[in-house]
Amino acid sequence: MTASQTALQDAAHLFTELVGGEPEGVWSSAGRANLIGEHTDYNEGFVLPFAIQYRTYAAARLRRDGVLRVASTFAPGAVELPVPALADAFGGSAGAAVAAGTVPEWAAYPLGVAWAALAAAGRAGTDVPGVDIAIASDVPVGAGLSSSAAIEGSVAAALNDLWRLDLAPLDLAKAGRRAENEAVGAPTGIMDQVSSIMGRADAATFLDCRSLETRSVDLGLEREGLVLLAIDTKVEHAHASGGYRDRRAACERGAAALGVPSLRDVGAADLDRARDLLDEVTFRRVRHIVTENQRVLDTVGALGASGPRAIGELLVASHASMRDDFEISVPELDTAVEAALGAGAIGARMTGGGFGGSAIALVEASAADAVADAAARAFADRGYTAPHVFAVVPSEGARRDS
Ligand code: ADP
Ligand code: MG
Repeated sequence: MTASQTALQDAAHLFTELVGGEPEGVWSSAGRANLIGEHTDYNEGFVLPFAIQYRTYAAARLRRDGVLRVASTFAPGAVELPVPALADAFGGSAGAAVAAGTVPEWAAYPLGVAWAALAAAGRAGTDVPGVDIAIASDVPVGAGLSSSAAIEGSVAAALNDLWRLDLAPLDLAKAGRRAENEAVGAPTGIMDQVSSIMGRADAATFLDCRSLETRSVDLGLEREGLVLLAIDTKVEHAHASGGYRDRRAACERGAAALGVPSLRDVGAADLDRARDLLDEVTFRRVRHIVTENQRVLDTVGALGASGPRAIGELLVASHASMRDDFEISVPELDTAVEAALGAGAIGARMTGGGFGGSAIALVEASAADAVADAAARAFADRGYTAPHVFAVVPSEGARRDS
């Protein structure tokens, strides 16, 4: 039995414990990893993430009354709110209900999704029956694999069916982002939700963060006998929030100096002018975004024209740009990338916001153990905490499981 089937059963068991009887159905959505396109999202650029095999499950059934009740294996007890009260709880300033302690933070994800999905469908809280939802997951929380998008996607898929909201996948993703931004109070983009919900097996999801155009891009890993490994450095993102703010500010500064709404509007041909106009550090921040956007487009092109073996250099160039121009890598991430490449990886790069977290490596399936061993040895040689190496399998997004 796979880990995910266990989480599916955990959700169904929790439902029975909570409500008695069987759920009407179980819906799920995936965690995600990013193949390429880092810090490009808030610059209205391009990203290429993929849904992974770790999933969050929501077992659910309509109630006769108008109460929405959520429970998770993650936290003891159930949290409930009348559906018509969702707008009061979440319609005010961002994260207010969580800050006031009216709604526990974890419950603001599923309840916030209910609120945002109803609003997106133009339905009033009084129009729909209540629902019981029991949630279980095998997506590691806070590990950069977007457990938050997975819980949002699973609940959005369940409510879309049970309430017959008829929302398209992109609308469900938007409802997830709105829940996270406004109900939870976490300012995030829409990449996580799009990749969690819209993923397909052995494919990545191209997202244009300006137009929100999405496209499924075949990876062809299975055909080519390749796997993607995540190398979790176990380094906590200690400077992540300050570093993120600072990088975002640099990008805004760069765009303003260049007279464009966002760095999306700057191309490689503009970089000479940018070098003259900007201070040295801001220039390098801008150059990362400009070249990374191009690398995402080039990766999509190379996958289509030549398959996954052709993207190795783009992954390596992306890492170098994050290390040298955007300066968001740490020695552990550089070590993971160098060790993977030294052991024959086709490409490798840090993934996620930086300052810690994971690298990903594209490797021959037959070389996966050698790459994992090389990373472990390189970390041991330098006295770093042992990394956790595991496969990330590009997988299907939101779906109904039963
Ligand atoms: P991540 O990188 O995993 O998305 P976030 O901080 O964005 O980290 O989201 C993690 C939060 O999402 C958790 O602290 C919790 O509030 C909520 N969450 C994620 N998965 C679950 C779950 N299975 N049950 C309840 N809450 C969850
Ligand atoms: Mg998250």
